[in-house]
Amino acid sequence: MTFEPSTDPTTGSALDVDLDALRAKYRQERDRRIRPDGAAQYRRAAGEFGYYAKDPYTPWTERAPREDRVEVLVIGAGFGGLLTASRLRQQGVESLRLMDEAGDVGGTWYWNRYPGIHCDIESYVYMPLLEEIGYVPQWRYAPGEEIRRHAVAIAHHFDLYRDTLFQTRATGLSWDEEDEEWLVTTDRGDRFRARFVVTSSGTLTQPKLPGIPGIETFRGHTFHTSRWDYGYTGGNQDGDLTGLADKRVAVVGTGATGLQIIPHLGQDAQELIVFQRTPSTVDVRDNRRTDPQWAASLQPGWQRARMENFLAVLAGEPVEESLVQDGWTATTRLQRKILSGAVDTSLSPQERERQDEIADAHTMNRLRARVDEIVEDRATAEALKPWYRYMCKRPGFSDTYLPTFNRPNVTLVDTADTGGITRMTETAVVVGDTEYEVDCVIFATGFEVGVSGVISGTLPVVGRGGRSLLEAWARGPRTLHGFYSHGFPNLFHLSGIQNANSVNFAHILLEQAEHIAAVIGRGHAVGARAIEPTAQAEDAWVNTVHETAIDNRAFQAECTPGYYNGEGTRSIAGASYSPGPIAFHHLLRQWREGDMGDVLVHGRLDDARASQNVGAAR
Ligand code: NDP
Repeated sequence: MTFEPSTDPTTGSALDVDLDALRAKYRQERDRRIRPDGAAQYRRAAGEFGYYAKDPYTPWTERAPREDRVEVLVIGAGFGGLLTASRLRQQGVESLRLMDEAGDVGGTWYWNRYPGIHCDIESYVYMPLLEEIGYVPQWRYAPGEEIRRHAVAIAHHFDLYRDTLFQTRATGLSWDEEDEEWLVTTDRGDRFRARFVVTSSGTLTQPKLPGIPGIETFRGHTFHTSRWDYGYTGGNQDGDLTGLADKRVAVVGTGATGLQIIPHLGQDAQELIVFQRTPSTVDVRDNRRTDPQWAASLQPGWQRARMENFLAVLAGEPVEESLVQDGWTATTRLQRKILSGAVDTSLSPQERERQDEIADAHTMNRLRARVDEIVEDRATAEALKPWYRYMCKRPGFSDTYLPTFNRPNVTLVDTADTGGITRMTETAVVVGDTEYEVDCVIFATGFEVGVSGVISGTLPVVGRGGRSLLEAWARGPRTLHGFYSHGFPNLFHLSGIQNANSVNFAHILLEQAEHIAAVIGRGHAVGARAIEPTAQAEDAWVNTVHETAIDNRAFQAECTPGYYNGEGTRSIAGASYSPGPIAFHHLLRQWREGDMGDVLVHGRLDDARASQNVGAAR
């Protein structure tokens, strides 16, 4: 399908894209996929599907319940938790406990160990604390195992393994007004106390499955990509899946994960059937080994400078030179549709949107042309072309994904018109009336969104006066700067909510960790028993976030369904601070340099209880 040039209605000059035709095509492709059940189409990998969430990496260890006390509990040992704990340790906090459901640190990089796993954000800006740890990544885009090992190295470097509770899920936090500390309960029978609690429980953590009729009847082998079963497939994250040499394998899902596993499955399985509902965009990857000369030339402070530079470019801020220059920095204007940052205010909103749409069409045309260039079979190439605007779906990058469909043992099955897979039987995956007999089904179907314990209520929090956090947030989150809430003293959250957001979320987490550590540090410095934002400061911040929110509902309503738009049912507008991460980090720095007067201090470790603000307490 091609789109002939039309005329620009504003300037009268010829356009090389036909926006009307493109819009109609995008709408048609969206409508093919919209399902009335929206996000309810998925099943949580729990209960009867709990098998899919079981940890295949670390044997279960029995231990006695804890009934002790720590100064700081950090829930979540991914990068957010590790970075916060590192900064607190550097400040001299000795009594520090990391807790995680996983068997070790690493968060997303602990769970996701599938073949081909890489981070598609450049490693030199993604992997935090490189200079402090004394490490330079081996690849421009690092393999998952290198990143997981880096998380372990951070934990060792800052002595964070000393008091960890792994394989442990927090089940409740309740504020003890008398002693001014949190009572923490867990699924291991622990009942311990913590003066401060920091939650960093991630946003894409709980694996989800499609609610395919008959999914539970399948008798072959099956697992979710975030719990890869190397016992069955053989091999490791580099591939060599020898166990699949005589297997017919089905993979469901072609998101960022699907893009990375499918080339390995295609190479090693006897036969691979890829069940696709919506194709991803697949841009150039161009991964390469780190140049040792470049690594040797790096000057102290290089990583922070590079991270700041990348963040600024992504946020649409002016820079002298873009240091990273990859598929992300080339599409910043398009990312602005759903990610916060600076916009060109010299243009009217209508003109800005028109130019955005043209730029979007150029990028998408290039990506569709890339499919034609690489994929030999015409029908397969057509099915692999993404027909939506660039940020409707999470952008993808790969140099090996599209060529996989030229292999004779690989078949693409397009399930767009059936809303995904129709049903499963004991031995087959069924689409429409066609049954595909397979030995193994691998679900690359992603994760529940925003299932951070505190926000979803899976971790009940009861604060001052017996008030639950969910009740306090009944009409939406209420925080100061996204970190903490009035009535919930000494409790901090790392997340994108009412905070900054960026493609390089590891950088966002580093800034969050440093801010939280600074606030706790200030509390310690004044001998505070408890700190929390004032109600006025919280109100003001909630208003700021709402007033500056960019309305992207119209954009997302036109998108094919996916987790970015609640499967076509809602917009993610207003979740984070819209002026962008650079503006937000500047605001936080200024705030820290002030007297932190927005934070209430309760009591003193050494004398009677009295409320005052941190500024006054100094
Ligand atoms: P996604 O949610 O992005 O993709 C799930 C896939 O499953 C989609 O292709 C979806 O199709 C498909 N699917 C769902 N239900 C059905 C069904 N019933 N029948 C057929 N297909 C179905 O999950 P991923 O694990 O791929 O990625 C999750 C996130 O993890 C990414 O968005 C990214 O944020 C992160 N990630 C990051 C990486 C990195 O390098 N930094 C690498 C990998 C993941 P449809 O689109 O039609 O819903």
